[in-house]
Amino acid sequence: KLQRKIAVLGFMGVGKSAVTIQFTEGHFAEPYSPTIENTFQKVIRHKGIEYQTDILDTAGQDEYQIFHTRYAMGIHGYILMYSIVSRRSFDMVSTIRDKLLNAVGTENIPHVLVGNKSDLVHEREVATEEGQRLADEWGVPFIESSAKFNTNIEEIFRKLILQCEAG
Ligand code: GDP
Ligand code: MG
Repeated sequence: KLQRKIAVLGFMGVGKSAVTIQFTEGHFAEPYSPTIENTFQKVIRHKGIEYQTDILDTAGQDEYQIFHTRYAMGIHGYILMYSIVSRRSFDMVSTIRDKLLNAVGTENIPHVLVGNKSDLVHEREVATEEGQRLADEWGVPFIESSAKFNTNIEEIFRKLILQCEAG
Protein backbone atom coordinates (compact mmCIF):
# COMPACT_ATOMS: atom_id res chain seq x y z
CA LYS A 1 0.00 0.00 0.00
CA LEU A 2 1.07 3.52 -0.66
CA GLN A 3 1.25 5.58 2.48
CA ARG A 4 -0.07 9.14 2.43
CA LYS A 5 0.36 11.39 5.42
CA ILE A 6 -2.22 14.15 5.62
CA ALA A 7 -2.51 17.01 8.09
CA VAL A 8 -5.72 18.91 8.80
CA LEU A 9 -5.13 22.58 9.57
CA GLY A 10 -7.51 25.36 10.51
CA PHE A 11 -8.82 27.60 13.23
CA MET A 12 -10.24 25.94 16.33
CA GLY A 13 -13.83 24.78 16.10
CA VAL A 14 -14.06 24.56 12.30
CA GLY A 15 -14.63 20.81 12.45
CA LYS A 16 -11.19 19.31 11.84
CA SER A 17 -11.81 16.48 14.30
CA ALA A 18 -15.41 15.94 13.20
CA VAL A 19 -14.40 15.68 9.52
CA THR A 20 -11.49 13.34 10.32
CA ILE A 21 -13.64 11.10 12.51
CA GLN A 22 -16.52 11.05 10.02
CA PHE A 23 -14.05 9.98 7.33
CA THR A 24 -12.20 7.33 9.33
CA GLU A 25 -14.93 6.02 11.64
CA GLY A 26 -18.14 6.86 9.80
CA HIS A 27 -19.96 8.78 12.48
CA PHE A 28 -20.43 12.35 13.68
CA ALA A 29 -18.32 12.55 16.82
CA GLU A 30 -19.31 14.06 20.09
CA PRO A 31 -17.44 17.34 20.51
CA TYR A 32 -14.15 16.92 22.24
CA SER A 33 -11.39 19.17 23.38
CA PRO A 34 -10.06 21.45 20.63
CA THR A 35 -6.59 21.16 22.14
CA ILE A 36 -6.37 17.41 21.58
CA GLU A 37 -4.18 16.34 18.68
CA ASN A 38 -4.65 12.88 17.29
CA THR A 39 -3.79 10.63 14.38
CA PHE A 40 -6.26 8.45 12.47
CA GLN A 41 -5.84 5.84 9.76
CA LYS A 42 -7.95 4.65 6.89
CA VAL A 43 -7.32 2.70 3.72
CA ILE A 44 -8.87 4.14 0.59
CA ARG A 45 -8.91 2.70 -2.89
CA HIS A 46 -8.45 5.03 -5.81
CA LYS A 47 -8.20 3.86 -9.42
CA GLY A 48 -7.36 0.36 -8.21
CA ILE A 49 -4.58 1.57 -5.95
CA GLU A 50 -4.79 1.22 -2.18
CA TYR A 51 -3.68 4.14 -0.10
CA GLN A 52 -2.97 3.95 3.57
CA THR A 53 -3.93 7.40 4.79
CA ASP A 54 -2.43 8.61 7.99
CA ILE A 55 -4.26 11.71 9.15
CA LEU A 56 -2.92 14.18 11.67
CA ASP A 57 -5.86 16.02 13.23
CA THR A 58 -4.10 19.06 14.62
CA ALA A 59 -5.18 21.23 17.51
CA GLY A 60 -6.50 24.57 16.24
CA GLN A 61 -4.24 27.32 15.02
CA ASP A 62 -4.77 30.99 15.81
CA GLU A 63 -3.12 34.22 14.73
CA TYR A 64 -0.49 34.15 17.40
CA GLN A 65 0.59 30.57 17.26
CA ILE A 66 3.93 29.58 15.84
CA PHE A 67 3.62 27.05 13.06
CA HIS A 68 4.92 23.75 14.42
CA THR A 69 7.76 22.51 12.24
CA ARG A 70 6.48 18.97 12.70
CA TYR A 71 3.43 20.02 10.68
CA ALA A 72 5.81 20.73 7.83
CA MET A 73 7.80 17.51 7.88
CA GLY A 74 6.92 14.17 6.34
CA ILE A 75 3.42 15.28 5.33
CA HIS A 76 2.29 14.61 1.75
CA GLY A 77 -0.74 16.86 1.69
CA TYR A 78 -2.85 19.31 3.66
CA ILE A 79 -6.49 19.99 4.26
CA LEU A 80 -6.90 23.71 4.96
CA MET A 81 -10.23 24.13 6.65
CA TYR A 82 -12.52 26.96 7.65
CA SER A 83 -16.15 26.97 8.72
CA ILE A 84 -18.73 28.65 6.48
CA VAL A 85 -20.34 30.06 9.64
CA SER A 86 -17.15 31.79 10.80
CA ARG A 87 -15.71 34.74 8.94
CA ARG A 88 -12.78 34.73 11.32
CA SER A 89 -11.91 31.14 10.45
CA PHE A 90 -11.98 32.09 6.75
CA ASP A 91 -9.56 34.96 7.37
CA MET A 92 -7.38 32.62 9.44
CA VAL A 93 -7.08 30.00 6.72
CA SER A 94 -4.98 32.35 4.56
CA THR A 95 -2.70 33.14 7.48
CA ILE A 96 -2.27 29.45 8.21
CA ARG A 97 -1.48 28.75 4.56
CA ASP A 98 1.16 31.51 4.55
CA LYS A 99 2.80 29.95 7.58
CA LEU A 100 2.61 26.51 6.01
CA LEU A 101 4.21 27.60 2.72
CA ASN A 102 6.88 29.41 4.67
CA ALA A 103 7.62 26.37 6.77
CA VAL A 104 7.80 23.92 3.86
CA GLY A 105 9.61 26.47 1.68
CA THR A 106 7.61 25.85 -1.49
CA GLU A 107 4.20 26.60 -2.99
CA ASN A 108 4.36 23.19 -4.56
CA ILE A 109 2.68 21.30 -1.76
CA PRO A 110 -0.58 19.42 -2.35
CA HIS A 111 -3.47 21.01 -0.50
CA VAL A 112 -7.21 21.51 -0.72
CA LEU A 113 -9.46 24.25 0.67
CA VAL A 114 -12.48 23.08 2.65
CA GLY A 115 -15.44 25.11 3.90
CA ASN A 116 -17.03 22.88 6.54
CA LYS A 117 -20.46 23.04 8.27
CA SER A 118 -22.29 23.50 4.98
CA ASP A 119 -25.45 22.23 6.72
CA LEU A 120 -25.71 25.43 8.78
CA VAL A 121 -27.20 27.39 5.87
CA HIS A 122 -28.96 29.95 8.04
CA GLU A 123 -25.77 30.89 9.88
CA ARG A 124 -23.58 31.20 6.81
CA GLU A 125 -21.01 34.04 6.96
CA VAL A 126 -18.82 33.04 4.02
CA ALA A 127 -20.33 32.69 0.56
CA THR A 128 -19.48 29.68 -1.58
CA GLU A 129 -18.07 32.06 -4.22
CA GLU A 130 -15.61 33.52 -1.74
CA GLY A 131 -14.25 30.08 -0.93
CA GLN A 132 -14.09 29.18 -4.61
CA ARG A 133 -12.32 32.44 -5.45
CA LEU A 134 -9.69 31.87 -2.77
CA ALA A 135 -9.08 28.29 -3.93
CA ASP A 136 -8.76 29.55 -7.53
CA GLU A 137 -6.18 32.08 -6.35
CA TRP A 138 -4.26 29.30 -4.68
CA GLY A 139 -4.79 26.97 -7.64
CA VAL A 140 -6.21 24.16 -5.51
CA PRO A 141 -9.51 22.25 -5.30
CA PHE A 142 -12.36 23.67 -3.20
CA ILE A 143 -14.97 21.63 -1.37
CA GLU A 144 -17.80 22.60 0.96
CA SER A 145 -18.54 19.79 3.40
CA SER A 146 -20.65 18.77 6.33
CA ALA A 147 -19.19 16.37 8.88
CA LYS A 148 -22.62 16.25 10.50
CA PHE A 149 -24.40 14.90 7.42
CA ASN A 150 -21.38 13.21 5.84
CA THR A 151 -21.57 15.46 2.80
CA ASN A 152 -18.46 15.54 0.59
CA ILE A 153 -16.25 14.09 3.32
CA GLU A 154 -14.75 11.29 1.18
CA GLU A 155 -14.48 13.81 -1.62
CA ILE A 156 -12.05 15.92 0.42
CA PHE A 157 -9.63 13.05 0.86
CA ARG A 158 -9.99 11.79 -2.71
CA LYS A 159 -9.26 15.25 -4.12
CA LEU A 160 -6.23 15.54 -1.88
CA ILE A 161 -4.88 12.09 -2.85
CA LEU A 162 -5.31 13.11 -6.51
CA GLN A 163 -3.33 16.29 -5.82
CA CYS A 164 -0.60 14.21 -4.20
CA GLU A 165 -0.37 12.04 -7.32
CA ALA A 166 -0.25 15.04 -9.63
CA GLY A 167 2.45 16.77 -7.64
P1 GDP B 1 -11.96 21.37 15.59
O1 GDP B 1 -11.59 22.23 16.75
O2 GDP B 1 -11.61 22.03 14.30
O3 GDP B 1 -11.42 19.96 15.68
O4 GDP B 1 -13.55 21.26 15.59
P2 GDP B 1 -14.49 20.06 16.10
O5 GDP B 1 -14.43 18.92 15.15
O6 GDP B 1 -14.18 19.76 17.52
O7 GDP B 1 -15.92 20.73 15.95
C1 GDP B 1 -16.26 21.91 16.65
C2 GDP B 1 -17.78 21.96 16.86
O8 GDP B 1 -18.43 22.08 15.60
C3 GDP B 1 -18.32 20.69 17.51
O9 GDP B 1 -19.38 21.06 18.38
C4 GDP B 1 -18.85 19.90 16.34
O10 GDP B 1 -19.90 19.05 16.69
C5 GDP B 1 -19.31 21.00 15.39
N1 GDP B 1 -19.22 20.60 13.98
C6 GDP B 1 -18.15 20.08 13.34
N2 GDP B 1 -18.42 19.85 12.05
C7 GDP B 1 -19.70 20.23 11.86
C8 GDP B 1 -20.58 20.22 10.73
O11 GDP B 1 -20.24 19.84 9.59
N3 GDP B 1 -21.85 20.71 10.93
C9 GDP B 1 -22.28 21.15 12.15
N4 GDP B 1 -23.54 21.59 12.22
N5 GDP B 1 -21.49 21.17 13.21
C10 GDP B 1 -20.22 20.70 13.09
MG1 MG C 1 -10.13 19.08 17.05
